[in-house]
Amino acid sequence: MLKISNTLSRKKEVFKPQIEGKVSLFVCGPTVYDFSHVGHARTYIAFDIVAKYLKAQGYDVFYLQNITDLDDKIIQRAKESGLAPLQLSTKFEEEYLKDMKALGVDSVTKYARATDHIPETISQIERLMEKGYAYEIQGDGIYYDIAKFTRYGKLSGRTSLLAEDAVSRIDESISKKNKGDFALWKFSNEGFAPTWDSPWGKGRPGWHIEDTAITEKYFGSQYDIHGGAQDLVFPHHEAEISQMEAISGKRPLASYWMHTGFLTVHGEKMSKSLGNFVTIQDFITTYSERILRFFFLKTHYRSPMDYSDALVKQAQAELERIDEFVDRVKESEGTASSASLVSPYAEKFEEAMEDDFNTPKAMAAIFEFIRKVNPLLEKNQIGSEEKEEILSFLRKVDELFGFIFWRTQTKVQVIPQDIEDLVSQRESFRKEGRWDKADEVRKQLEKEGWITEDTPQGPRVKPQRK
Ligand code: AMP
Repeated sequence: MLKISNTLSRKKEVFKPQIEGKVSLFVCGPTVYDFSHVGHARTYIAFDIVAKYLKAQGYDVFYLQNITDLDDKIIQRAKESGLAPLQLSTKFEEEYLKDMKALGVDSVTKYARATDHIPETISQIERLMEKGYAYEIQGDGIYYDIAKFTRYGKLSGRTSLLAEDAVSRIDESISKKNKGDFALWKFSNEGFAPTWDSPWGKGRPGWHIEDTAITEKYFGSQYDIHGGAQDLVFPHHEAEISQMEAISGKRPLASYWMHTGFLTVHGEKMSKSLGNFVTIQDFITTYSERILRFFFLKTHYRSPMDYSDALVKQAQAELERIDEFVDRVKESEGTASSASLVSPYAEKFEEAMEDDFNTPKAMAAIFEFIRKVNPLLEKNQIGSEEKEEILSFLRKVDELFGFIFWRTQTKVQVIPQDIEDLVSQRESFRKEGRWDKADEVRKQLEKEGWITEDTPQGPRVKPQRK
């Protein structure tokens, strides 16, 4: 029986979809104004596993994700880069989809862009206006009046008064009725960013309304699972609930609210604004796609986890143990031992996944299995039937986890000795203050196709991206 930790009830609950055999899953997608980093990847890999597990259990899963392709951050970045806002967001949407493909995140049924859903957005705002949940601020926009929605704060445990706290992405306006009121529609006529006609005047949607406009279109006013990272609980998900439940009069908007913990660096959230990020593309160039999946699945999706090169290298070494095991199984030509090997571990694996997608527990079952089988391999006691049984178990695991067989040919970046030597040489020159010499070596490394980076942990070298 699958149980899911539900942020809404703050309990682990048995999963029961609204329509038997079907699951509607919505996860907040990215705001596409830059390359995605591995913090984003953590959240999207977590929900890839959720969708794949549900599919493996026989559910017909509709996994929907929005793409925020126009908002203040995109407009700001576009101004700085000299591109039009939608040109910029199209470029980074392509990069995002490329990254997801590279990471084996292929479970999303539909990606839906905010700007492709303007009529649905306007229709939602019209209904909120009619029902008295929204009001106009002349020359500014249409705002949601959080004081009108009595259940405001149920998801995050906050009240409309607490919403006075300064929170990112709550639009500022001195004319708002409540500090926590947020924009549904922003009037704009400046000409740089695209605008649309609306019953209230030219403008563009606020951030929170795109999600409910999109989910209502594809799922209706209620659905099964809503996901995102924990920073979205407030104000974003609270706003979504306020919008859709006010419009439909039905609750809950989503039965299960799932939130991933942050990927942190020295305890701080990995984020663009703090500058402490590693892009997905850089990670893949230095390590590999499957190492990232393996690394993330070692920790439960709800828990925060810290990123460091040392921890990634440790994961890499652990994954090599699995690789070695798979090779040994494939090469084995022994005679059968009598025990049925797989089933106790397959059961443990499934039990772990049923317990709120507990991937670290599921991984522990795999490593226990390896410890059990390794001595048998050494004694040549794995026969052809068992070999097939083991490999088919691992293949099943891999349909979810995607780090065992998937792209086993993917290189683990090996740094050649002569390159390592040059890096040390450069470091010695730097320590001696011989900057010219150090620079010469850096140039030589670049000629050979390697980039050096000086980090607080010392120099790092990685291949240049093609
Ligand atoms: P954004 O593009 O900033 O809207 O982020 C897209 C998704 O990635 C959201 O669900 C974010 O909460 C999530 N996210 C961003 N940074 C991290 C992080 N460091 N760890 C986990 N998830 C993150």
